[in-house]
Amino acid sequence: MAPDDSRADKDDAQRLIRRALEALQGAFTVSPVPTGGDEDQARLALPALVLATEAAAIAVLDERGGVIFANPKARQLLDLNHTTPPGDDRAPDPPSELLAFRLVAITGTPLFDARCEIHTAERGRHVLSVNAAPLPDSGNGPPLVALAMTDLTGQYDYYEHALRESEQRLKLATEAAGLGVWEYDLETDTYHWDERMMAIYGLDESQRPVTYQDWLALLVPEHQDRLHAASSPGAGRSERREIEFRIRRPDGEQRHIRAVWQGIEDPHGRTQRLVGTNEDITEQRELQSELEYRAAHDPLTDLFNRAKIQQLLRAAQAAFTRHGTPFAVLLFDVDHFKRVNDRYGHGAGDAVLWEMARRIESVLRETDHMGRWGGEEFLVLASQTDEAGAKTLAERIRRQVAQTPFEGVGTVTVSLGVAAAEAGTSLETLEQRADRALYAAKHNGRNQSVRYSRLPETADDGPAAPAR
Ligand code: GH3
Ligand code: MG
Ligand code: MG
Repeated sequence: MAPDDSRADKDDAQRLIRRALEALQGAFTVSPVPTGGDEDQARLALPALVLATEAAAIAVLDERGGVIFANPKARQLLDLNHTTPPGDDRAPDPPSELLAFRLVAITGTPLFDARCEIHTAERGRHVLSVNAAPLPDSGNGPPLVALAMTDLTGQYDYYEHALRESEQRLKLATEAAGLGVWEYDLETDTYHWDERMMAIYGLDESQRPVTYQDWLALLVPEHQDRLHAASSPGAGRSERREIEFRIRRPDGEQRHIRAVWQGIEDPHGRTQRLVGTNEDITEQRELQSELEYRAAHDPLTDLFNRAKIQQLLRAAQAAFTRHGTPFAVLLFDVDHFKRVNDRYGHGAGDAVLWEMARRIESVLRETDHMGRWGGEEFLVLASQTDEAGAKTLAERIRRQVAQTPFEGVGTVTVSLGVAAAEAGTSLETLEQRADRALYAAKHNGRNQSVRYSRLPETADDGPAAPAR
């Protein structure tokens, strides 16, 4: 470079800096603007003062992105002392991340509070808030842009640390609870699933669901329609929702899932994203149904227990009272069961009770219910049945028990009492009637069934005895 050229370049730079300072002065309302002899110096005194403060980092870029002015704070922040020591004539380059702001000089549109992360060799990573304004062009010079920068690194580090901590806490909490976490973007129809979600659904990376339909296809077919209405992304907007459903893993295993989610609104109140969890509650559900089963069933025979059969009787009685739906009760007791126990042992007796329950179940309709009333006494609730129909069923039961010997024990018989619901008669009375009919069957010689209405003391006509 010829000495003359260098001289001219220096003059150019001086002019540019002067322009930048003049433009910056426009930003400060100063009244009155000093005039007179040292007008130039006076006019520039205030911006010069401001620029010298440590409060803000101010720099001016040319349209190529070269720094043609930087106050001490900006030199320090942008690491300019390191790249280009003071006194060097070359316009130093700012960190490359700042180069984008030269566009402000070209477009003429200012930017406010633009976040910019810069990396310098000396000082590492910094997060800046940048205000960038085009400097008014007096007509001939190249476009310039003024940057006022605030270092947010301290704040960012603080918030990032706090965010990381709360994310970690959430992760620990969701892990401890076995929760999978998902997020859904309504606009793009895209899911983000964490690793636990993938594990719950038994999926590998190549099976990762992306869209709402992808997820729906993972449910068992019978839940897909039901769920679609309840969970389609638009449904329910922002309130908290909860549903349970079953999924089918690729290996065919079904799992029971509880999903909870909530909409996240944008500043205009529109639901933009859904954020939620999935929990595999299969074991919980299995335990619950096991408990429910145990609460209603007798452990020895697997029949309904007395409490459950009484509940069914109350329901039948209510339907009879309200709608006249008929029903009948068959109460029966094993004949000479003490002998079975005495001869073959209590275990053999138990086996007979279990086998008997299976045999009798096989002759019942689905609408009939059998329960263990106590000891070796059973009750059948025959729905939609009058006393004559119940007698037919009683005989079928009697034969089913008596006709085939029980393994290791031989033939065992039962005696049955039958009574049908009657207007104006309570459930207790009905139970007593069946019991009296059973007593009559025992009294008459066992291995038989007796209708309550045919008992000698209740029958309107017919022979006094024996009642059958
Ligand atoms: P009856 O024909 O008059 O009914 O004679 P029974 O010997 O069956 O007399 P009862 O009904 O009074 O006796 C019931 C017997 O059934 C007494 C009891 O030891 C036995 N038993 C009751 N519950 C069970 C049980 O769960 N398992 C076994 N193995 N035996 C039972
Ligand atoms: Mg008995
Ligand atoms: Mg008994």
